[in-house]
Amino acid sequence: MHTQVLVLGGGPGGYAAAFFAADMGLEVTIVDRMPQLGGTCLLRGCIPSKALLHVAKVINESVEMGDWGVSFGKPKIDLAAMRARKQQIINTLSGGLGTLAKKRNVRIVNGNGYFEDSNRLRIEGGDPETHPSEGCISFETCILATGSEPAMPAMFDIGSDRIMDSTGALELKDIPENLLVVGAGYIGLEMGTVYASLGSKVKVVEMMDTFLPTTDADLARPLKKRLNKLFESIEMGTKVAGVAIKGDKVAATLEKGGESRTEEFDRVLVCIGRRPNSANIGLENTDVVINKQGFVQTDNQQRTDDKSIFAIGDVIGNPMLAHKASYEGKIAVEVITGKDSTFDAMAIPCVVFTDPELAWAGLTERDAKEKGIDVEITVYPWGASGRAQAMGRPDGLTKMIIEPGTDRVLGVGIVGCGAGELIGEATLAIEMGAVVHDMTECIHPHPTMSETLPHAGDAHYGVATEIYRPRRPRK
Ligand code: FAD
Repeated sequence: MHTQVLVLGGGPGGYAAAFFAADMGLEVTIVDRMPQLGGTCLLRGCIPSKALLHVAKVINESVEMGDWGVSFGKPKIDLAAMRARKQQIINTLSGGLGTLAKKRNVRIVNGNGYFEDSNRLRIEGGDPETHPSEGCISFETCILATGSEPAMPAMFDIGSDRIMDSTGALELKDIPENLLVVGAGYIGLEMGTVYASLGSKVKVVEMMDTFLPTTDADLARPLKKRLNKLFESIEMGTKVAGVAIKGDKVAATLEKGGESRTEEFDRVLVCIGRRPNSANIGLENTDVVINKQGFVQTDNQQRTDDKSIFAIGDVIGNPMLAHKASYEGKIAVEVITGKDSTFDAMAIPCVVFTDPELAWAGLTERDAKEKGIDVEITVYPWGASGRAQAMGRPDGLTKMIIEPGTDRVLGVGIVGCGAGELIGEATLAIEMGAVVHDMTECIHPHPTMSETLPHAGDAHYGVATEIYRPRRPRK
């Protein structure tokens, strides 16, 4: 079998690249070891986690309604129905991708891909119906989009399904009475939120001393405050030194400040990061170079060191996000079709889908401090927002990082309900080189949280209607 463009990996990087390449008139084949398209994001990441987080949100809101005059009984949890709904969402979206691939004449081959050389991929395993008889596909150009998988240190590999990674946690086999979440990154906090809302006592331990260390502290604070109530505890500077099965429990040895103690849990969820899928795929038979952490090296046109192979998505490094992978996929295709495109995004929005949500784009105050960049900061507290008060959620803030002298918006950080939806506008503003005045002069609908963006700008000039800040001259 021969193909013009072979895309190895059918995740959000791979299928976006493949569909765009087909739209550009190229003949395309996707190879994926999973029988369904969608990759980590759709099958065991973004979408199933958000399906479960939505349930968690409704449960928590129904409890809070008790303070506002409406009380519901204790929720009855039907795990089988929850799992079925999650699977049905995955099947609908993945089925849609399959149909879209057919409409575009994108060939899909199911199996494990292994590079024989820079222009041939051997296919192993997979569905015999789509398995090519000669077991090898030759290609003119390959887009490598093999993504990443959860990192699971050997210490946790004790052959027990009571120790889960994010994929295992999404299976929602039961609601453990006591759950230990190892790692306070976004995946640990999101999955911890799901389980705690369903009734588990969740303890989160994190080796680092700072909660969400790459996030601005004033954004992380309201989240930490709320999670402190939802979770049994969040212990920073705490390391898991060992785990052992004890009857139907997992005994975890926790170390903090030189002291060690053992606690028992029904399940342990390990969320300490993800590693790139770059090993055992024959890259040594090509000129592709990988770095010490296993990430494939590319230039800003998604070219690897092998002239026939481009790479995109998680396999090339952070931030490991679906929208970054898809964007890189489009850059790769533009370059393959002869355009001089480069990856030059000014802002890649990041969202933590906890409650409250945390979202940021562009420069953060923390980055600015670390890099010695002089910035001005304006903050609009959601306590002044009528909509936030009406929703009973004034525990948010909108923050803008501004270039002194020009008033250009360099970054925006938001914490609060729906922050993930709001960051899109901020990302557009940063990409378009907007100044604060552009945001304040754009009429936003009332009452919405989106108003907090122009209001943060008004606060910068000391003219915000609902809060008082000393006035500063408008540029
Ligand atoms: P992947 O989606 O990992 O796809 C790679 C594909 O390659 C897979 O289908 C795999 O089967 C296939 N593959 C790998 N090796 C081979 C091989 N040798 N042969 C054949 N096929 C192969 N990101 C967000 O932006 N927002 C979120 O809310 C979000 N939530 C997440 C929640 C969880 C629990 C997890 C785990 C991840 C989440 N992510 C989120 C991250 C997101 O899923 C990834 O960034 C994204 O899927 C990366 O896309 P990709 O195309 O690079 O790789």
